[in-house]
Amino acid sequence: MNQIAPTPEINPSSSLDPAQFASADGQRVNLIGIPRTQLNDMLVERGHKPFRTKQLWQWLYWHGVTDFDAMTNLSKHFRQSLADEFVIERPRVSQALSSADGTAKWLLKFPDGNEVETVHIPEADRGTLCVSSQVGCTLTCKFCHTGTQKLVRNLTAAEVVGQMMLARDAFGEWPTPSDHSRMITNVVMMGMGEPLYNYDNVAAALRIVMDGEGLSLSKRRITLSTSGVVPAMRQCGEELNVNLAVSLHAVDNDTRDHIMPINKKYPLEELLDACRSYPGVTNARRITFEYVMLKGVNDSDADARQLVRLLKGIPSKINLIPFNPWPGSDFECSSATRTAAFQTIIQEAGLSAPVRTTRGEDILAACGQLKSESQKLRRSERDRLEAAHLAAQVSAVD
Ligand code: SAH
Ligand code: SF4
Repeated sequence: MNQIAPTPEINPSSSLDPAQFASADGQRVNLIGIPRTQLNDMLVERGHKPFRTKQLWQWLYWHGVTDFDAMTNLSKHFRQSLADEFVIERPRVSQALSSADGTAKWLLKFPDGNEVETVHIPEADRGTLCVSSQVGCTLTCKFCHTGTQKLVRNLTAAEVVGQMMLARDAFGEWPTPSDHSRMITNVVMMGMGEPLYNYDNVAAALRIVMDGEGLSLSKRRITLSTSGVVPAMRQCGEELNVNLAVSLHAVDNDTRDHIMPINKKYPLEELLDACRSYPGVTNARRITFEYVMLKGVNDSDADARQLVRLLKGIPSKINLIPFNPWPGSDFECSSATRTAAFQTIIQEAGLSAPVRTTRGEDILAACGQLKSESQKLRRSERDRLEAAHLAAQVSAVD
């Protein structure tokens, strides 16, 4: 039986442990990812005036500079004192790939050797960045390759916000452009990991992403996807007020216990209550329920009818996601006819339930499912499959 990792304690303060601010070489402090108030305190402690924080912030997050010498409205003395102690770092990109359909993928390698990926999916009316929150994931959902990865650690706030910044670097998207001309119009926390098991760092990163004097992305364009970490959902809604996506995937506790062990801790009733009371949910701002179609597991007509019953009273949209098999996975994807029948029942109840089709012919795995088994494939093949899958998955958000 799976052991569920304990839910992390909720930290009432939005400050982060300064130990995580160390630069890659451990010698200095990386300014990226430090919460604004903490950065202000650090500057004031060093004898600088508080208005310097705003100036520095704008150089870091509005202009995206990585060199103190480029901060032309700061005195030489201040720039030098910054350079003595601080650096401005992005995660290191070990590989950058782009697929024929325009999807871009960056494999990031951290100083401890761990890797995650970030993906950009351009569409006609938007560009979505799929961001990772952890290396691996402790939650071991049976259908998810990321959950089979042994090594797990939380990403720091710098590693989370740095994913958006390196994508902006790649697009030359500095200073922050106005909304309509951006390559990155939306961010989804749908990469590797469970973002609500790394709430403090994800929250700190998203606050930086939303700060109007920096990266300046509206909370309405940010979606956090969770497997259902009930105690953190309310806090997420109250403090960040971003859009919520919930990986539902089953409509009864027995099935959900089996495929998503976190359900044993936070069963469906509690999860749906937390959705019902998610701050800011209205018909104009619905919760996205993700539902992966697993042949013979969760895809019967009765399941569809039960799904409709469960979601009654919750402003919802449902994304039906074809299961993406990976080497060693125990499931098959529901057939197209089964999926269509399932969809019809939901739609006839008045709910939106698009089926997300993948762009590639074969699909290897879901977000972040690189490495381990997939290394047996030729790198180019693996990248093609992953990029195609990720494109489909991320476009499933709204
Ligand atoms: N941990 C978070 C976010 C990352 S997973 C969560 O679970 O919501 C992003 C989405 O991909 C989730 O809905 C997840 O259930 C889905 N997913 C995982 N493995 C998949 C697979 N093999 N095929 C299709 N979707 C998958
Ligand atoms: Fe973790 Fe989400 Fe994968 Fe489950 S689906 S193992 S919560 S990344």
